[in-house]
Amino acid sequence: MPIYRSALLRFTPEGTAIYEEDGLLATEADAQGTQRVLGAGSWSALSGQYAGQEVTHWPGRIIAPGFVDLHIHYPQTDVIGSPADGLLPWLENYTFPHESRFSDSAYAAEVARFFVDELLRNGVTSAVTFCTSHPGSVEALMHEAQSRHMRMIAGKVLQDRHSPDGVRDATEQSLIDTETLIQRWHGKDRLGYAITPRFAPTSTDAQLRGAGELAAKYPDVWIQSHVAENHDEIRWARELFPASRSYLSIYDDFGLMRERALYAHCIHFDDADRALMRERRTAAAVCPTSNLFLSSGYFDFAKADEAGFSYGLASDVGGGTSFSPFHTMLAAYYVGREGHAKQGQSLSPQALWWQHTAGAARAAGLDGIVGNLQPGCEADFVVLNPQATPLLARRTAQARDLDELLFAMIVLGDDRLIERTQLA
Ligand SMILES: [Zn+2]
Repeated sequence: MPIYRSALLRFTPEGTAIYEEDGLLATEADAQGTQRVLGAGSWSALSGQYAGQEVTHWPGRIIAPGFVDLHIHYPQTDVIGSPADGLLPWLENYTFPHESRFSDSAYAAEVARFFVDELLRNGVTSAVTFCTSHPGSVEALMHEAQSRHMRMIAGKVLQDRHSPDGVRDATEQSLIDTETLIQRWHGKDRLGYAITPRFAPTSTDAQLRGAGELAAKYPDVWIQSHVAENHDEIRWARELFPASRSYLSIYDDFGLMRERALYAHCIHFDDADRALMRERRTAAAVCPTSNLFLSSGYFDFAKADEAGFSYGLASDVGGGTSFSPFHTMLAAYYVGREGHAKQGQSLSPQALWWQHTAGAARAAGLDGIVGNLQPGCEADFVVLNPQATPLLARRTAQARDLDELLFAMIVLGDDRLIERTQLA
């Protein structure tokens, strides 16, 4: 039974941070061999219960929940930092040509290995991930995540129109492949499958209908797609599906909005869209570095809270510019502050951190499973070193309270702050 002693960060079910300067984390393997949190709290209160056990002591470090990334594209690892005028030219000039290479399984396996290493180096222990339209791209990522015992949700992209040769799939075969992959991977070890239409404009009615039928047949499988990111994209979607009330409604009309459905971006929504998100218990994956990079717009946190739909943070690599949750949290802060396109607000450090850990897990339907270090949670955690750089050491030493400590790490942190990533 591993026992760890260091400072400890976790969250209440309401999303308030709990911080122990001198904390204790005890974990124990369950019947499947996954380490789960047995006890978490202050050293003085709990250490008596574990007397005589060997303790791993990390003085000056902070144990915190592993980060949860709600939306990322592993095949775009090598597209990160590609200049473009906006979403549609970026897809056409960089992303589609690059994704066509994933028809080669050996290439997919090499990228999957690098991608998982990079997630872990940055403290991301769970991710909801797009593969490409090639079933082999899913096989490569699932094998890699399985070999690390990592909680990974991923799916084969569905795109049977308006896509170039090399990435466009065939309607009927794409649905057969999706069902085969669900049966092979969903619920195996810590893996989950996500039905993955790229976005409405690149799927025919028949493909979206088939995806919706699979979503109904397999209710605990995830759904992931994109919505309302960019004005040109929205115009295009509305032209292609004139019968739907809005871009978001297209997905609803095909049965693709329900619990465990995650839509990236959700920027240009009206109140009816927000109400629909809440009614369907569908969540938004907020991708601030991507939205700033591609000038897509600003997610409206206040209106999301007002409407009462759930959301969490995501990197959206390679439209996003960083694997680091610290960069994503800081960008989310900038997006929150923006006050021209919407009412500006200052998101609290605890709220930002929660949205990338326990809050993101809740949005994905994994509340109490990952993203937190309460008893019963799978024990994915990071060990933070607040002395990792001279400036971090200087600034965090002067933090007067938890909010100042968390915010200094959000603003100054990157992969150097992650000293260790431990999977359950
Ligand atoms: Zn994306």
